[in-house]
Amino acid sequence: MPSTTMRKTEQSRRLQQRAESMIPGGVNSPVRAFRSVGGDPLFVVRGKGSHIWDADENEYIDYIGSWGPLILGHAEPTVLDAIVSAACNGTSFGASTPSEADLAELVLSAFPSMQKVRFVNSGTEATMSAIRLARAYTKRKYIIKFEGCYHGHADPLLVKAGSGVATLGIPGSAGVPEEFIMFTVALPFNNLSAVEQAFQKYKHQIACVIVEPVVGNMGCVPAADDYLVGLRLITERERAVLIFDEVMTGFRVAFGGAQELYNIKPDLTTMGKIIGGGLPVGAYGGPKEIMDLVAPLGPMYQAGTLSGNPLAMAAGCAMLKQLRDRKAEIYPRLEKLSAELVEGVASGARDAGVPLSHNRVGSMFTWFFQQGPVSDWDSAAKSDTEAFGKFFGEMLERGVYLPPSQYEAAFLGAAHTEEDVQKTIQAAKLSFAAMRKK
Ligand SMILES: *Cc1c(COP(=O)(O)O)cnc(C)c1O
Repeated sequence: MPSTTMRKTEQSRRLQQRAESMIPGGVNSPVRAFRSVGGDPLFVVRGKGSHIWDADENEYIDYIGSWGPLILGHAEPTVLDAIVSAACNGTSFGASTPSEADLAELVLSAFPSMQKVRFVNSGTEATMSAIRLARAYTKRKYIIKFEGCYHGHADPLLVKAGSGVATLGIPGSAGVPEEFIMFTVALPFNNLSAVEQAFQKYKHQIACVIVEPVVGNMGCVPAADDYLVGLRLITERERAVLIFDEVMTGFRVAFGGAQELYNIKPDLTTMGKIIGGGLPVGAYGGPKEIMDLVAPLGPMYQAGTLSGNPLAMAAGCAMLKQLRDRKAEIYPRLEKLSAELVEGVASGARDAGVPLSHNRVGSMFTWFFQQGPVSDWDSAAKSDTEAFGKFFGEMLERGVYLPPSQYEAAFLGAAHTEEDVQKTIQAAKLSFAAMRKK
């Protein structure tokens, strides 16, 4: 953090102290605590479009967007209206409501690889269930995941995970018995021969390969050319299930997610974030042949008291309808504005002599504080996280809110303006200059 804080921070600090006395670290999700960047986490009291305001009335341009869901910006009117009108009819029934099929229809029409979908309450539940389903379908035990990919916090997936696990610099989690992860094989991302070798070693025992088709959880790391095609070919040959974890990339990198962008059909897809319109939703889906194993049709059990919640379904429907109706305008504009932002900041770093490399796919991006290139966890981990922490703090002082970790992707949304982007580039130039002075 900058040595002198010009922003007012008393209210946020007071709220953090109060929260810390009752909630571990004062937060309900670890990265929010700013531990890897230092300084006081801000308490947000409101958001509108691309901007948020904290408890001290500081205004920021927001590049987190609730970690991805808010691709249309904060307090988007049609999403708010949908939530309010749904709420007026009651918040939850524990029985089916018509909006569940409405959201299912929107999701399935955007993702032709899926014939059926089941809604859950988070991305974690979606991937946990997809893994269980892949095991039920193949009657095999082993799963392959990749180092630096994050698929939520279910036990078998907390192995060399990205996101907060990478941010905190820990390999996995305490409280996960060795026996629970003995069937998890963690391999380097973007390396097909490692996958081939694992399939040799565990012949006919690998149930599935789960991958973020564009990784967002070790910072943004795209798949190399032919990597995803390679995973598709290998899993097909070995009769293993290919799971695209599109919790972050679904409706983000293209309307139809990474599978549309790269034209590859996985067997199962997991989703979350954008499909909930800012409310808690996750989903998993695929062909009927696999999905019909899910209870009550089949023997794979999965349930949820609040699953398919009418408020969350309404928010998701409003969000996806807008994205569908405006996709020809929204996605090209996100591409253009994100390119301008990411390259503008990178060129500021070059001018200031700050080593910086960058990865971007559509409106998902990361500036890595190193020469790069970054293509897997080993290369991402070479980043100068201290320099990132300083940059983060300098940007915050200048009214720009970036993810408080080198290993989390940032997002631009449809509410961001040319002016936001220019202000951010300017703030970055001043931040690089300030970093050099210290
Ligand atoms: C965010 C994320 C998850 C976990 O979703 P939660 O809703 O936080 O449980 C899983 N996979 C990916 C790729 C994610 O980005």
